[in-house]
Amino acid sequence: MGFMSVLKNILGPKPPKKKKPITQMQLEISHLSPTEPEENKFMDKEVFLRIANFFDQVKVVNFSGWGDPLEHPEALEMFRIAREKGGRVHIVTEGKLLTPSLCQQIVELGIEKLTIKLCPPHNTLDQVRESLENILSLRKNDPEIILDYKLTVNNLNLLPQVLESASSLNINEFKTSNLDFIFTEELNNSKVFEGKVSDENRGDLIKQGKVKGKAEYEEIISQTEKIANKLGVYFTPPQTLVPKEAVVCEYEPLKNVFITWEGRLAPCPFLSLNKISYYFNEQKLEQTPYIVGDLKTTDLENLWNENKYEEFRNVYQKRVQLFNAYMEETFEGEPNAQLLANNYEKLDRQLLENKVPDCCRSCYKAYSI
Ligand code: SF4
Repeated sequence: MGFMSVLKNILGPKPPKKKKPITQMQLEISHLSPTEPEENKFMDKEVFLRIANFFDQVKVVNFSGWGDPLEHPEALEMFRIAREKGGRVHIVTEGKLLTPSLCQQIVELGIEKLTIKLCPPHNTLDQVRESLENILSLRKNDPEIILDYKLTVNNLNLLPQVLESASSLNINEFKTSNLDFIFTEELNNSKVFEGKVSDENRGDLIKQGKVKGKAEYEEIISQTEKIANKLGVYFTPPQTLVPKEAVVCEYEPLKNVFITWEGRLAPCPFLSLNKISYYFNEQKLEQTPYIVGDLKTTDLENLWNENKYEEFRNVYQKRVQLFNAYMEETFEGEPNAQLLANNYEKLDRQLLENKVPDCCRSCYKAYSI
């Protein structure tokens, strides 16, 4: 019997690896109110270290939130701890603070993904080009670099030209996203999507009288897609320019959690905000926060298993099950038009009976925006 076999006999069978239920912990180490003209608020190192105890329970720690994580004076140290304790680290930033030394350390730390948010004329590619060139020249494979272009009526026409300009950089993806959480009238007027969600249409395009977004906007998107194909840029267009109910929103609350700069846990950044007004369906509404609990006093696993949080996730779980059953029933053979129509109608009815949670109903993310 070999040494390893003897050792195995003494130690007994290896305990099964514990499955991590949470894929991504979005961690807000720097907070900037989306409505108040105030200074950044930073996560205390003590709070951070307490939360870092739970990093091994999640697959990815994603430094992002309402403020830029690079603003935190100890950001680099926090990235280092996250790498040591958790493993995979992503950063979402405007990129303006990416100094040459920071770029080098990000590469050395093995950060897996770096997303740079663009929203001309405020955040432009020119402002971050030098840093991007720097980081791209230093990296072997990581970090993956993604440019995320926030679409507004003021910058949509610049999209093809910015993508063309980015094509000389060796980035991994150029994606576009809509203004999703809309806090001011000005932002509301600059969104590029249109259409109104009601209880009756729940985002159904035809019932909203729209099959697509505004023709001129769709044209710019498709023109950009053609340029991207020609130049070999991996381009992701916005999901839609008309709200359309999603089975589960893009934040994937079944897998991900959001931690505020104070250490509180919410399903997503939007639900972490308190006393805030926002715009939805051309109306100004008051947001109701949905805070599950506080990681300063409660362990992550206990918060994840809280009854009210489980109930929240069960709603989405049920919707996913209904959707999977629909896919199986519809596409396992050769579907004909009648089967497609009948099954879609059935799914629509079932999703209506299993609406998204109340706190998500007036959020554009629930409608694929
Ligand atoms: S639908 Fe909106 S409020 Fe609900 S979890 Fe998704 S992002 Fe958050």
